[in-house]
Amino acid sequence: MALLKILTYGNETLRKPCKAIDKITPELIELAKDMLETMYDAPGCGLAAPQIGKNIRLVVIDTAIPDEEDPNPYIMFNPEWEPEQESEQVSHEEGCLSLPGIWGEVTRASKVKVRYMDINGNQQEISGCEGLFARCIQHETDHLDGKLFVDKISAADRAMNASKLKKLAKENS
Ligand SMILES: [Zn+2]
Repeated sequence: MALLKILTYGNETLRKPCKAIDKITPELIELAKDMLETMYDAPGCGLAAPQIGKNIRLVVIDTAIPDEEDPNPYIMFNPEWEPEQESEQVSHEEGCLSLPGIWGEVTRASKVKVRYMDINGNQQEISGCEGLFARCIQHETDHLDGKLFVDKISAADRAMNASKLKKLAKENS
């Protein structure tokens, strides 16, 4: 197991669309476990492969509350989500390990269904994902398409964070 370096805003890898994974290999499982360790260490509740420099469709998520709930890690290859019928658009504050110190309100679906391939290569489907888990699934899947939450914040939030964003981008240029 190893801690990986988390890339930050301004790094081009974060903006590239990621490739689907055909076959699970021991290397991919190792990478996913390293990503979980890196996420717990940060700490954060989700991490996508481009954030550690790999443009592949892999995310890890654990939205259990540290020290209060048992860990509940998910490793998802090729995740795809869709809103459930009763889903509503809800706004909530988000942050991102690739955007340290930046926060903003993002509107997303409140209830989703996610499909993905697990570490054994089996297709999985989880219905009725809500709350932070639903938000995290959408946020991490966005990363796989080169999208960041700051693309979706209001003009006011963007203006408030403008100098921090500029500083981060400059550090990576
Ligand atoms: Zn993120």
